[in-house]
Amino acid sequence: MRKILTLPLSLAFLSLACNQAAAFSTPANSEQSPIAIAIHGGAGTIAKENFTEQQEQAYRQKLEEAVNTGYKVLAEGGSSTDAVIVAIQILEASPYFNAGVGAVYTYDGTHELDASIMDGATLEAGAVSGVKNVASPIALANVIKDRSAHVMLSGEGAQDFAKEQGLELVDNSFFDTPHRKLQLDKAIEKLHQSDEKQNDKAAYQNLDTHFKYGTVGAVALDKEGNLAAGTSTGGMTAKRFGRIGDSPIIGAGTYANNQSCAVSATGHGEFFIRYHVAADICARVQYQNISLQQAADTVVNDVLVEAGGSGGVIAIDSQGNIAMPFNSKGMYRASKKLGGNAEVAIFKSE
Ligand code: ASP
Repeated sequence: MRKILTLPLSLAFLSLACNQAAAFSTPANSEQSPIAIAIHGGAGTIAKENFTEQQEQAYRQKLEEAVNTGYKVLAEGGSSTDAVIVAIQILEASPYFNAGVGAVYTYDGTHELDASIMDGATLEAGAVSGVKNVASPIALANVIKDRSAHVMLSGEGAQDFAKEQGLELVDNSFFDTPHRKLQLDKAIEKLHQSDEKQNDKAAYQNLDTHFKYGTVGAVALDKEGNLAAGTSTGGMTAKRFGRIGDSPIIGAGTYANNQSCAVSATGHGEFFIRYHVAADICARVQYQNISLQQAADTVVNDVLVEAGGSGGVIAIDSQGNIAMPFNSKGMYRASKKLGGNAEVAIFKSE
């Protein structure tokens, strides 16, 4: 009788121990783990006819450089968080994208930058909004994640923290580019035309997406099976009154959870906030038991389209599956998986 009782008990303990080991340990053979990374450089009215051959190549090369550099970190055993940061920093430093150098201008002719990062293993997150003088907003978001008691810092306070933590500070003109200035001038002209007949809400809604987007982001899966996501942006051209979009909002523009997926979004931020897009995709994966592709497609192509919110996402799950749906004309994007080449795409037809 005693034996009969103890055998199932010991089996139960063994099974509990195994389950706990599976939950807390890294995969047994991490050499085989499916490392992968995906990046985006913004979504919007991106059509082939708007590019010269040279411009298109320049964008593709920069995307390829960023995805390969992020992948190298993963291949060398680095963390998904580090891979996300290096990939984003390459795009922040490039004038082609709306993050760091090349960030769009506010209505007042300055740059106000937002960024966020999340670690899917711990659910630690860091976010920064409306900073004007921090050279790499994604670096600041990461330092907030690791060293601040808070998740989200904004404006002057965030900059004080950046200074205290020894991050590089720059003059706001560091982010200037002539093509973004031109976009601001055109956007203001359009806003003034509509201002006479429409309220602020309608006027901004009608601004062509060409003036709005270009945010950058990355999601990655590392050898330990950990997911991470990050996003960095200048926000929306001609934004006013300290406007903050979805990019620094955890759950809207960025989300990562090892139980489901990691997502970085780009598009009309107000919609991505209201529909908590990044977290919604991961919740669907976790609770509806559907594929990453299905979940991301539903949110981007059904929920957002119905609401009138344009844009897209990059998403990755813990098996290394990648989904990159968008409902705009194009989205700068690239990905690289274990054993594969970097895949770079811009237009819808690719
Ligand atoms: N989502 C960003 C924002 O609304 C813009 C973008 O994706 O380019 O601030």
